[in-house]
Amino acid sequence: MIWNEKMECMEPKEMVGLQSERLKQIVAYLWNNSPLYRKKLESSGINPAGIKDVNDIERLPFTTKEDLRDAYPFKLFSRPLKDIAEIHVSSGTTGNPTVVGYTKDDLDLWAEAIARALGCAGAKPGDMIQIAYGYGLFTGGLGFHYGSLKMGLTIIPCSSGQSKRQIKLMTDFKPKVLACTPSYALYMAEEAKEMGIDPKNSSWEIGIFGAEPWTEDMRGEIEKEWNMLATDVYGLSEITGPGVAQECTHKDGLHIFWDIFFPEVIDPKTGKRVKEGEDGELVVTTMTKQGIPLLRYRTRDIVSINYEKCKCGRTCPRISKIKGRTDDMIIVRGINVFPTQIEHVLLQIEGTKPHYQLIVDRKTREMDELEVLVEVEEKIFSDEISKLKALEEKIRNEIMSTLGVSAKIRLVEPKTIERSEGKAKRVIDKRKI
Ligand SMILES: [Zn+2]
Repeated sequence: MIWNEKMECMEPKEMVGLQSERLKQIVAYLWNNSPLYRKKLESSGINPAGIKDVNDIERLPFTTKEDLRDAYPFKLFSRPLKDIAEIHVSSGTTGNPTVVGYTKDDLDLWAEAIARALGCAGAKPGDMIQIAYGYGLFTGGLGFHYGSLKMGLTIIPCSSGQSKRQIKLMTDFKPKVLACTPSYALYMAEEAKEMGIDPKNSSWEIGIFGAEPWTEDMRGEIEKEWNMLATDVYGLSEITGPGVAQECTHKDGLHIFWDIFFPEVIDPKTGKRVKEGEDGELVVTTMTKQGIPLLRYRTRDIVSINYEKCKCGRTCPRISKIKGRTDDMIIVRGINVFPTQIEHVLLQIEGTKPHYQLIVDRKTREMDELEVLVEVEEKIFSDEISKLKALEEKIRNEIMSTLGVSAKIRLVEPKTIERSEGKAKRVIDKRKI
């Protein structure tokens, strides 16, 4: 179903008119309500009267994660605290976390975005959803909760963790939709097998997986394991949480709801827009939020964008699956390496599992060493040493020929690499740089 046909299928020409109106409004709103943004706009020589249409967005300054950190906790809020209905905090690795505040209208807007996402994935009112994203300060759980309420689904608010209970509830309640991280979906398949349950017979027909980048190969693996349709959802708490973009059942890019989240794809070095179809950093402007609207937020996610109308009838553009993160990227001996590239290689090779970890270290001076831990199927691990050596060699060669980087491969038994109930930890960087 298409939840909001008017907005999701609006003719692009008409959409430009709406976006232009909304951009004018949001810039004026920030000018009047956010001293920090007013300063930012003034120092870029912008005033609200100068915004004529949505193309003027390119003249606006960017907003970065650092801007949010520096504004800790509430300096970027554009409403007084009494108007803020809910606060979320994103997990930061260093320094202050980022804090976002939602007014009641913002929560409703978020629910609207998720309802559209659910519709894209093929859910409809009356379906049952198992939400296995964490509930709490992380936006995954509550976001899906509000959207599912709005659409009229029956919710099992499991949160993440307690996998055996998740599987028992799935078996007994028979929900149709599962929402969680892709790595957790695979982990639960292992748990199900351990419980003597064949994941292929599960009641889940639709999976909505996000909060970490994942590849087409991993999709294949999840769909095979669970015998379900696995779709990708995109979002980030700074913008609203999940629901910024979502794949439809054609699985050919994620529809970004551009009446509320205006997308641009830029060259991260120059800040200029790249051409349609080219890779760049996704930048999002929230067109209608009130609590903490953001202009041109640098997501650090690498995507490409496609403005063609989709087979499903939606006209909102589609971003590719996340190809990497500018901050997840590791540079090994001068070569850019994204964990998703390694994942892609591994899933092409018979006998390996999509559970892996990259460890980068610098033991001898100025010489980076990349080690890739790869789980292999049990039957392979019990093979003779020479076969294991041959598999190691194969992975090393494939990584070398695809990424141009030499890596040490360490094959490990199933379930050696620590599992996460949220985002998988793909990179351990031990270098002191
Ligand atoms: Zn579509």
